[in-house]
Amino acid sequence: MVANWRAFAACGAAEAGAAIKADGYGLGARDVLMRLAAAGCRHFFVAHWHEVPPLLPLPDGIRLSVLHGVTEDQMPSALVLPAEPVLSTPAQAALWRQTGRPVEVMVDTGMNRLGLAPADAAAISNGLEVAVLHSHLACTEEPAHPLNAAQLACFAAVAEQVPAQRRALANSAGAGLGPAYHFDLLRPGIGLYGGGLLPDGRPSQPVFRLYARIIQLRAVPAGAAVGYGASFVAARHSRIATVALGYADGYARGLSGVGWALAGGIRCMAAGRISMDLAAFDVTDVPQLAEDDWLEIPFDPEAMAAVSGRTAYELLVALGQRFERVWR
Ligand SMILES: *Cc1c(COP(=O)(O)O)cnc(C)c1O
Repeated sequence: MVANWRAFAACGAAEAGAAIKADGYGLGARDVLMRLAAAGCRHFFVAHWHEVPPLLPLPDGIRLSVLHGVTEDQMPSALVLPAEPVLSTPAQAALWRQTGRPVEVMVDTGMNRLGLAPADAAAISNGLEVAVLHSHLACTEEPAHPLNAAQLACFAAVAEQVPAQRRALANSAGAGLGPAYHFDLLRPGIGLYGGGLLPDGRPSQPVFRLYARIIQLRAVPAGAAVGYGASFVAARHSRIATVALGYADGYARGLSGVGWALAGGIRCMAAGRISMDLAAFDVTDVPQLAEDDWLEIPFDPEAMAAVSGRTAYELLVALGQRFERVWR
């Protein structure tokens, strides 16, 4: 993960931050923050205010931004937490102006999701001390899409009019569009966690391995079915491992029949439907396996996305809380 972050930090003159919203894309936001901060990352992004307290205390010199801005009822906690909002609406700007504190501002340059309208950005941010001016790109996974260049031109024009200490436009894939898109600060997320590409075009390196334990091993005769819906029918006399891993752990139901475990270097296919807490793997070809053994469950986010019909983002953020996370 640190190597992935360094690829962003080294890709140009811009500083690399890190998006750690949604519990660090499922990996554990506080652990991600501490490790990337030790590597030199200074600027982190979450979406909600309630994502801030579990990250505290922050190491010295760390800046934390809340991408969803701030509402009136969130103001009291916003003022005591060591984080600052990324303002997106005129109402949020009016609330914050009274505080006199530095803030970040999002401008919508064509995605039509969050952010001030480009034409209003200068007037609305007047009287605010803008530490970072942000925008977000809609089509970075299609480098040739004309909206990329249009958003870049729009952002550059707004940045001329809104005095800001720093400017930030690119997420992970946006950094790969080239230095013109980098400005002062990058906001990579998925590229830190093993999804998508690094700015130099290499795939992001996988950052974790999943292991799950065999609760029971059973002999299943040819013609017998396994799991809900009896969707897997053994074609041969089989040995089936029932493993403590299910869709409540983020092992998506879409991996039924297409996911696999690795044991002794052999690929053991998921047999039948993944259920909430359990999955079955056909381990017929690995006779040395025993109950209580651990199976490695390969979970390269892009490879799993390709077979499950989900994106690497969806798969990562769904990983859930039941894994014991062991950091090395
Ligand atoms: C989530 C998010 C990012 C990170 O995007 P990735 O595609 O995961 O790199 C960057 N900027 C904003 C505004 C985001 O919401």
